[in-house]
Amino acid sequence: MSIHVYTSKLVSLLWKDLMPERCDCLLVNTSLATMVEGGVPYGAIADGALAIAGDRILYAGPRSDAPDFTAEQVVDCGGGWLTPGLVDCHTHLVFGGNRALEFEQRLQGVSYEEIARAGGGILSTVRDTRDATEGDLLASARARLQPLLAEGVTTVEIKSGYGLNLATELRMLRVARQLGQEMPVSVRTTFLGAHALPPEFSSADDYIDHVCGEILPEVARLGLADAVDVFCEGVGFSPRQCERVFAAARALDLPVKAHVEQLSNLGGAALAAEYDALSVDHLEYLAESDVPALKAAGTIAVLLPGAYYFLGETQRPPVSALRQHAVPMAVATDLNPGSSPMASLLLAMNQAAVLFGLTPQECLRGATRHGALALGLGSKGLLRPGMDADVVLWAIGHPAELSYGVNFHRPEKVWRGGVCAPAA
Ligand SMILES: [Zn+2]
Repeated sequence: MSIHVYTSKLVSLLWKDLMPERCDCLLVNTSLATMVEGGVPYGAIADGALAIAGDRILYAGPRSDAPDFTAEQVVDCGGGWLTPGLVDCHTHLVFGGNRALEFEQRLQGVSYEEIARAGGGILSTVRDTRDATEGDLLASARARLQPLLAEGVTTVEIKSGYGLNLATELRMLRVARQLGQEMPVSVRTTFLGAHALPPEFSSADDYIDHVCGEILPEVARLGLADAVDVFCEGVGFSPRQCERVFAAARALDLPVKAHVEQLSNLGGAALAAEYDALSVDHLEYLAESDVPALKAAGTIAVLLPGAYYFLGETQRPPVSALRQHAVPMAVATDLNPGSSPMASLLLAMNQAAVLFGLTPQECLRGATRHGALALGLGSKGLLRPGMDADVVLWAIGHPAELSYGVNFHRPEKVWRGGVCAPAA
């Protein structure tokens, strides 16, 4: 060892002794599910400690290895577990009206086609959303977001797509941004103009012209969207039409996502991968041969068991192929009025386990790290130094419990960006 290295080591040791590290909040008497991959399940650390400084995690590891922190506040976690804040990476929680009466009609034997002919289905949500004021949309969305926050969600994605015209798409996105301002949650917004064909257009190509030429550029100019999404499906838009939206998004420097292979296989996932999509979502009909392209593009596979459940589907996504090719799987609620009226990410985790066969560890990783990656948020979803201090304390004996019981658990405490949110 050179004299210089020796001296600097000595100085740093002395410095550490004389000047203990400061942190704002030190969490002790806890186990950590760090969700860091490659080691033990859940990246678990028994008898751990976690230090928060500002909005970042300063330390997450064994208590015995922790520096001698001087903390503004020490929290005794009562032997509970800390996990990263939950990330719901796919919702449509801003909308007008609801579809409960349509649900009742369907169960009384009225067919979906009859309902659609009578003005029901997604177009009824479009009508109700267009008719709603910004205040109405904000109030109803706030009420749907609240139960997600109450179960430890610290980041949520919210899509537009029930306006299908410039004014209403902008209104939806403004409401989504506003929710992130007034509630203790990080909101990522996604423009989903290519969700359905609005009634005033008879040609899907003409509408896609309008989306790419008029709505999307304005959304981008106003900075209202963090990503751009499409519904690639027989009842949505063709791959060719979706590709035009992807190209327009790329020209505006916006990343893309896609609803693909939910009801049939149109090859939308492979197409999205060509555009380096952040995520492809649903995937029940994904072909195994398209899985390597997702891996190569770094695209996250977002599984949405709530829609599968609510629609009574039987085709399960190819989970073993996704595992085999190490494509990261996320789990989200798909909270929406038509096919997944469900404001519980913990329930989505349970459904992903029961209906799709994910392990509880995959479910928790899907609702933390992989959910964050599906939104392009590299600094979220892990308990590791330098990451955002989004942390949830649970009174559980093992993290598998979070996917196991339905409505068993609420967080003891939630920190979002280092700030301890008031109990919901
Ligand atoms: Zn969706």
